[in-house]
Amino acid sequence: MHVLVSGAGIAGSALAHLMLARGHRVTVVEVAPRPRPGGQAVDVRGPALDVMDRMGLGDRLRAARTDMRGMSVVATDGTELMRSTTTTLTGGPLDSPDVEILRDDLAAMLADVAAGAEWCFGDRVAEIGPDHVRLAGGRVLEPDVVVGADGLHSGVGRLAGIVDASCLRPLGSHLAVYTMPNVFGLDRWQVFCRCPAAMIGLYTARDNREVRVNLGFEGAADYDHRDLPTQKALLADVFADHGWWVPRMLEGLADAEDFYLAPMTQVVAPRWSVGRTVLLGDAAWCTTPLSGQGTTLALVGAHLLAHELDTRPVAAAFAAYEDRMRPVAEADQRLAIDNAARVADMMDDPGQAAAGEAWSATSAATTLVLP
Ligand SMILES: Cc1cc2nc3c(=O)[nH]c(=O)nc-3n(C[C@H](O)[C@H](O)[C@H](O)COP(=O)(O)OP(=O)(O)OC[C@H]3O[C@@H](n4cnc5c(N)ncnc54)[C@H](O)[C@@H]3O)c2cc1C
Repeated sequence: MHVLVSGAGIAGSALAHLMLARGHRVTVVEVAPRPRPGGQAVDVRGPALDVMDRMGLGDRLRAARTDMRGMSVVATDGTELMRSTTTTLTGGPLDSPDVEILRDDLAAMLADVAAGAEWCFGDRVAEIGPDHVRLAGGRVLEPDVVVGADGLHSGVGRLAGIVDASCLRPLGSHLAVYTMPNVFGLDRWQVFCRCPAAMIGLYTARDNREVRVNLGFEGAADYDHRDLPTQKALLADVFADHGWWVPRMLEGLADAEDFYLAPMTQVVAPRWSVGRTVLLGDAAWCTTPLSGQGTTLALVGAHLLAHELDTRPVAAAFAAYEDRMRPVAEADQRLAIDNAARVADMMDDPGQAAAGEAWSATSAATTLVLP
């Protein structure tokens, strides 16, 4: 079988490897000119750990885990409101079998084991015909299966008529993530600043050499998801009058090559496939970073899709994959909405949260039993 995968993110690279390992031919088409750096620390939980182990990547994954000592919440004048060495901001335990890893480290690991695929960077699917796919660069391919693993704004999903703008469910906020040097003197630590209608935080990465800045804001904002200079200008404008360390954080913006800004928008698609085209990962079910499950869902979804494609004819495989994944993805979309309220409560009253019990994000994805 020849599988064309659009998108070399977590879901696309994982599927590429899993199909190659089953003896299929794989072409990966990625719109970015090279593997995309950046992103937050993301969590690999439950059955996704099993997927990584089965890929032979378990040891590499665990060796690359982030190594936080804890987190604190401060007021805008820098006064510490709470600190914890047992839980993260979202209530997850720091000491757990789950693996927190930088998103780009995980993406690189997956791309590495999928090196046997044909990789087409700087290109995208421009047309999906009855028997062929045409790339924007002009090549024509005749894959048996086309997989849209191309994220929230799935090009394949739109070309195939699986999703359109009506499938997007905005949750009303936006999150920017980027890397800058650790000029803050933090030592394996996350720190968040309590501020109305904004999320301001940073945490160390790569042996304290770097920090990953998180700046989130509420409200409508109109930006082209590919226009990074305009996105950076928008962020600088939104945070221009903020105190604490924000001016220093904004100084890192200009040089941030991995800058990423995304709306907290979920994808609610009535179906995930049509003909020989199927969606995977955020393209099919984006839950938003608020769920803390996007990576786990992408890995588990890739495993299930690869398993089904290897077991049944294409249409039956797509149906079986959607039957297994849809209830889980929908439950984690609800979890994201609940988590948004929990984080808001915690920021409203960090002292009480410090004194109280940590709630831990429980996800439907972690209950899945893998075939
Ligand atoms: C640079 C980056 C930073 C991220 N940072 C965070 C973060 O900080 N926190 C968080 O929770 N989630 C983040 N995400 C999203 C997170 O990776 C996903 O929620 C999750 O891992 C599921 O992965 P995915 O493969 O479905 O989607 P993604 O990881 O978003 O991968 C989609 C891939 O498709 C590519 N693509 C997009 N359009 C096209 C097209 N038309 N043709 C070909 N390729 C296309 C993208 O460049 C990307 O490589 C980030 C994604 C990216 C790309």
